[in-house]
Parts: sequence; structure tokens; C-alpha cells
Amino acid sequence: MTSACSYTVTVGGYVLGVLNVRESKEFHEHIEVCAQCSREVVELSPVARMLAPLRTAARAAHLN
Ligand SMILES: [Zn+2]
Repeated sequence: MTSACSYTVTVGGYVLGVLNVRESKEFHEHIEVCAQCSREVVELSPVARMLAPLRTAARAAHLN
């Protein structure tokens, strides 16, 4: 890898769905033209899916 794209820091927020509408739209347009970020999204998406039920479980455990 040569130089990191400045948008790579946004990938985590994007796959976790915590970006606002404007950021999300902007990033979506960016990954259309950036191979580095689109690859990051593909790599991180399964991680985000794995973490989603864990977050729900942790929240449920705190409620009990
Ligand atoms: Zn990028």
C-alpha cells in the first residue's frame, strides 16, 4: 500500500451505519471511484454484521 486515502477513516463509520445522511452520501460517491475504500467496505462489512448482535446482546445483558 502506498498512500492511505483520507476517506479510509470514514469506512468504519459507514459500515456501522453511524454516518449522517450527508457523510453517507458523500462517502458512497467516493467509493464508486476509490478502489481502496470500496475494498475496505467489503472487508469490514462482515465484521460490522458480526458486531451488531454482540452490541444487542451486551445491551440486553445490561438491562437484566
Ligand atoms: Zn478512498
